[in-house]
Amino acid sequence: MSIFDAVGLELAEPVHASAPYPAFVASAMDGYAVRVADLPGRLRVVGDVPAGSVPDVGVEPGTAVRIMTGSLVPVGAEAVVPVEEVSVDGDHVEVGVTTTVGRHIRGIGDDVAPGDLVLSAGEIVRTAQLAALVAHNAATVTVRPRPRVAVLSTGDELVPHGTQPGPAQLVDSNGPGLQAAAEAAGAEVVHRSHVSDDPGAFRDAIAGLPDVELIVTSGGVSMGAYDVVKAELADRGIRFENVAMQPGRPQGWGRLDGEVPMLGLPGNPVSALLSFELFGRAALGRERPVATALLADPIPRSPKGKLQLVRGRLRDGEVSLAGGHESHLVVGLARADCLVMVDEQVESLPAGATVRVISLI
Ligand code: AMP
Ligand code: MG
Repeated sequence: MSIFDAVGLELAEPVHASAPYPAFVASAMDGYAVRVADLPGRLRVVGDVPAGSVPDVGVEPGTAVRIMTGSLVPVGAEAVVPVEEVSVDGDHVEVGVTTTVGRHIRGIGDDVAPGDLVLSAGEIVRTAQLAALVAHNAATVTVRPRPRVAVLSTGDELVPHGTQPGPAQLVDSNGPGLQAAAEAAGAEVVHRSHVSDDPGAFRDAIAGLPDVELIVTSGGVSMGAYDVVKAELADRGIRFENVAMQPGRPQGWGRLDGEVPMLGLPGNPVSALLSFELFGRAALGRERPVATALLADPIPRSPKGKLQLVRGRLRDGEVSLAGGHESHLVVGLARADCLVMVDEQVESLPAGATVRVISLI
């Protein structure tokens, strides 16, 4: 497809340079094009090269040509002396410094030579990758299609966004939240719906899904009496187990009827969204990078035997705690922009400890 439509998509094939970049010898500074043997010295300025123009004069011994950043370097020039390092005196310049061949000159192919790899297969086309493709006048690239995803919220207590919830109801925030998370991970959400905890209705909803590469459900995977996802799909190829992490302990995963990959995420909004950050992103091949940071606040308690994902805010390499601990605090989650990963054998951490963090931005 057109390179301009490929932003956010994964390259299926590498891109190689058809021409060198830069394509011509250019000045890296506003200054004067000179010969090295003439410096230091007083040089006669014999011409001027604005950006985009071809010099109509060369640099002869004892002369200089005024030149701008990005301008084509004139014949005979060996270096550029920045304008800050000369004093102008009428049609002459006094240069007090010496220089070396090639100083402040950009060479042909400094960035890539013809045939060099510009972008690798598997790379995501982001802003810098687009700029590299544009700079090469590439017209089209071969990309992988966005994975097609279905998002299904379960729960009798849920009402759609925009509806006033009754006394024991709440707005389905997981559905739109998981859709946004899947789209941020490069997927196309081709179906999103809310289904009740009624087994028949749930079976019908699953049967009616369009062709997708991943089904993501939320809710109904735990130990409750009405956990419909678990009840209906346990004998259709989906495993339901407790994962040693917090939040997000109950999880379902597998291939539905041996075919379509499925994630049965827990219903608590924080659990659902953070589980998607780990397992959904992994399924889509878009894991977030893990970095290290210093803890600004202590973590007094962490459950033994479980990976704890602590909500935090990352600033200048320091992470402070934000957004609370419990799994229903959906507004609290919005205050966090990263997750601190506290390993299962760690039970507490002091301020100043080095921790692993995943940015959620
Ligand atoms: P469940 O896993 O179905 O037992 O749900 C656990 C908790 O998450 C309950 O408090 C549910 O009301 C809540 N919950 C489940 N699904 C959603 C959803 N789609 N949006 C917001 N909250 C939900
Ligand atoms: Mg439920």
